[in-house]
Amino acid sequence: MLPEIDLKTAQGQNWDVIIAGSSFSAMFFLAGLPKGLSVLVIEKGRVAPHDEQVASEIPGRETFRQNNTSEHEKDWVAHSIFGGNSNCWWACTPRFHPSDFEMKTRYDVAQDWPFGYDALAPYYEEVETVMEISGGGSDHLLPRRTPFLYPPHLPSRTDKYLRKQSADWFAQPTARSNGGRRAPCCANGVCTICPIDAKFTVLNSIEVFERPNVQILMAAEVRSVRIEAGRATGVSVTLGEQSAELSASTIALGANGIFNAAILLRSDIDLPGIGLGLNEQVSLRMAIDAPDMGPFGGTSITGHGYPLYEGAHRADHSGVLIEVYNAIPMVRPEYGKWLERGHLKLIVEDIPQDENRVTLDQDEPLLTWVGHHKYALDGLNWGAKQVSAMFETPDRILQTRLSATEAHIMGTHRMGDDPARDVVDEYHRCHGIPNLFVLGSGAFPSSSMANPTLTLSATALRAAREAL
Ligand SMILES: Cc1cc2nc3c(=O)[nH]c(=O)nc-3n(C[C@H](O)[C@H](O)[C@H](O)COP(=O)(O)OP(=O)(O)OC[C@H]3O[C@@H](n4cnc5c(N)ncnc54)[C@H](O)[C@@H]3O)c2cc1C
Repeated sequence: MLPEIDLKTAQGQNWDVIIAGSSFSAMFFLAGLPKGLSVLVIEKGRVAPHDEQVASEIPGRETFRQNNTSEHEKDWVAHSIFGGNSNCWWACTPRFHPSDFEMKTRYDVAQDWPFGYDALAPYYEEVETVMEISGGGSDHLLPRRTPFLYPPHLPSRTDKYLRKQSADWFAQPTARSNGGRRAPCCANGVCTICPIDAKFTVLNSIEVFERPNVQILMAAEVRSVRIEAGRATGVSVTLGEQSAELSASTIALGANGIFNAAILLRSDIDLPGIGLGLNEQVSLRMAIDAPDMGPFGGTSITGHGYPLYEGAHRADHSGVLIEVYNAIPMVRPEYGKWLERGHLKLIVEDIPQDENRVTLDQDEPLLTWVGHHKYALDGLNWGAKQVSAMFETPDRILQTRLSATEAHIMGTHRMGDDPARDVVDEYHRCHGIPNLFVLGSGAFPSSSMANPTLTLSATALRAAREAL
């Protein structure tokens, strides 16, 4: 574990860097910092050992005040605990597709990113090494200089059927172990708290982030950033009943898209884009009942399908990323055919809309949600029809309602060159305050269909390496 420090001792020092949060964005930023800097990590929650999480549940689940005017039931998931949502994530780790960085140029949709796939590729590789990702078969779509460190998990029966159709079906890249320091995934499908600790979490890998001169202040909340003459000079924190001012030469916020936005809104920063564009992907699930379908793969989510991902359709509606679940949530009802069910998840990207936003109410985040963009919903309708046509004479196809959440908080401090709209530059530096970094997927200008964590870890690492 990182060595702990108390509030009084932390107050007595002028730190080189203060980082809020201890999950992916915070820890990969820490990993990229030049050696020798004094770093204080400030974490709002406590450490919950893995055994405690398995025996009960992950503590620190946040509830948010919501002003939800959409008929679609909406939820957001964040945990204030050491390691944040790395404790409960499912460890699906695709890279973004090269086109995801150029949606405006290619399709006149959303915004381009200030950099492209090639600029991020070396950092993807480094994060994949730390997380010990397994995978294979995706290089023609998501180019890589070196092969995956660990081989893909075994395919399910559904994967085998789909992989006969095209090379655009392959193993999902994942940090659910298939070799390396952690026990291999046992494919039980209860990944939210992995009983054997097979997936990468900050808690089970903390030694890769440890280094001299780094200390952690636990159970302390960063409330705001102190700004003086266009520079961040410190943070205000609370710890129980106590409050304090801490000083540093560089500040980085890795508290997620909702809390980062709240901290910025409490600080003396004049950027109109703060809090605007809260978004995440949306999905639905399909069950395909047919004799060729079924589990028997090597991990909970064995496959990825990209046949509906990239193409001209993205000018009109979202493309679709398809996940193949080995862990089927419900078996077929017919005697003798219980396992003849394929389970797919169709995921689409949303477009950030200013109306979906984080504001403050009594100094705490208030989330206003008017609904997903038509671009996303049209993509799901299109995708469901296309997927249904992929199966020859299935016995039955079932479809669920939209997911309440993908647990991917994005868009509230977007990255770009225009301070009238964007909050941070390509290195996550706040416009007008170059020593304040605002990390995480809150900075994503567009959301892609792919899960965000590998990418947000890579952009945090790139920021620390190239901008400090
Ligand atoms: C059930 C579930 C499954 C998921 N599965 C996947 C997946 O398979 N693949 C994928 O890519 N993504 C997945 N995600 C999303 C993924 O977990 C997030 O993208 C990722 O955790 C974001 O990392 P982060 O560092 O930005 O923030 P978080 O993980 O949210 O961590 C924020 C940290 O900041 C701390 N903090 C908050 N406020 C303050 C404050 N004011 N002061 C100090 N500290 C503070 C928190 O305690 C926490 O440590 C999943 C999420 C959930 C909930």
